[in-house]
Amino acid sequence: MALIVSALGLGAPALADELPTFTDDEFNDLFTNATLENLAPLEVPPAITGNASVDQRIREIGEAKGYVRRPLPAGQLTSVSGYPMQPSAVVAWKELKAAASQAGHTLLLRSAYRSHGTQVHILLRRLTSYTDAAIEYRLRAVAVPGYSKHHTGYAIDITQPGYAFTSFKNSPAYSWLVADNYANAKRYGWIPSYPPNATLQGPLPEAWELTYVGMDNIWCYGFEASSENSFCDDRNSVFEADIEWMVGAGLTTGCNQPLGDRFCPEDLVTRGELAAFLNRALGDSLSLVGEPITFADTVDSVFAEDIAWLSATGITNGCGEDSFCPTDPVTRGQLAAFLVRAYSYDDAGQGDLFIDDDDSIFEDQIERLATAGVTTGCNPPESNRYCPQDRVTRSQLAAFLRRSIE
Ligand SMILES: [Zn+2]
Repeated sequence: MALIVSALGLGAPALADELPTFTDDEFNDLFTNATLENLAPLEVPPAITGNASVDQRIREIGEAKGYVRRPLPAGQLTSVSGYPMQPSAVVAWKELKAAASQAGHTLLLRSAYRSHGTQVHILLRRLTSYTDAAIEYRLRAVAVPGYSKHHTGYAIDITQPGYAFTSFKNSPAYSWLVADNYANAKRYGWIPSYPPNATLQGPLPEAWELTYVGMDNIWCYGFEASSENSFCDDRNSVFEADIEWMVGAGLTTGCNQPLGDRFCPEDLVTRGELAAFLNRALGDSLSLVGEPITFADTVDSVFAEDIAWLSATGITNGCGEDSFCPTDPVTRGQLAAFLVRAYSYDDAGQGDLFIDDDDSIFEDQIERLATAGVTTGCNPPESNRYCPQDRVTRSQLAAFLRRSIE
């Protein structure tokens, strides 16, 4: 059993030779273009000196050096040793620290999220004259307020005991981090913030700063789809084969149109989305049994036509009076009912297959779904539970649909 679970919680970390490799410029570009949660774009950069034209000049000189405006946290951060950080980065930091420790290295956290106010303070403390030369010189080591990666909550400064920031690059921990194109950082979702050979990235190289982007962004950067591998974000999914099957069956083109290189396997399926998947799978083969139901809450849904079709087939009467609840996540119990009706699973089987569905209004449909071999429950290998209240992810739906259709 792996001692360390990956940032996605989906198995052992990737091996060094499986990971994609990047140039230093690509590392810089990867962070800027990463899809990261809990961030809001920075519309207006903060005031710095109190003189708008000096501030503008500082930003211009900074941008010419490669500094990029950074978004700010949109919600809560989590504190680690007193340093606020994005919650997803906290998990990955603990994994990185644990992996370093297993390899015999101690990593110390020295900074994470930094506010605009703090960055203004850091810059002004050192900027004693506002000539272009003075500004240019200071921006070699201090970011323009609004342009520090620390503002995002995804950047950290680290050291090893006995090493200052400036000598961290000579430490054994640093050698461990950077070996094989930063394999030990990348496998926990971390990349160098300002690596040694990037052409235009803002400050001079900083060996001690890392940014968290997560495994999906690492796998997805520069990804090119192939016939066996349609998506970059399902690499660790146990349902990858089912997801590929969905592509082949024409049931999905991914979750990020127009790019279409991600499937979002862990996203929950809504009732509206399920209507669309069923329409794609069965729209040509199911006969209509009546007029579509007019639901009060589907007019504005992008899935209005799919939902109308679904009601005309008799598969759904909605979620209550005049409603379909298109944005509600589908539960596993509801999914059983939808699939049993859509695929006419008539055989109710020998009886009680699961111990946790006795109180479910969907028990009969769950029995039929299991008898048809579409589900073996939610707790393999024991497989005596169905988890009817659990919600359905997109990757789980891929497996349900594949077993229903094949
Ligand atoms: Zn830093």
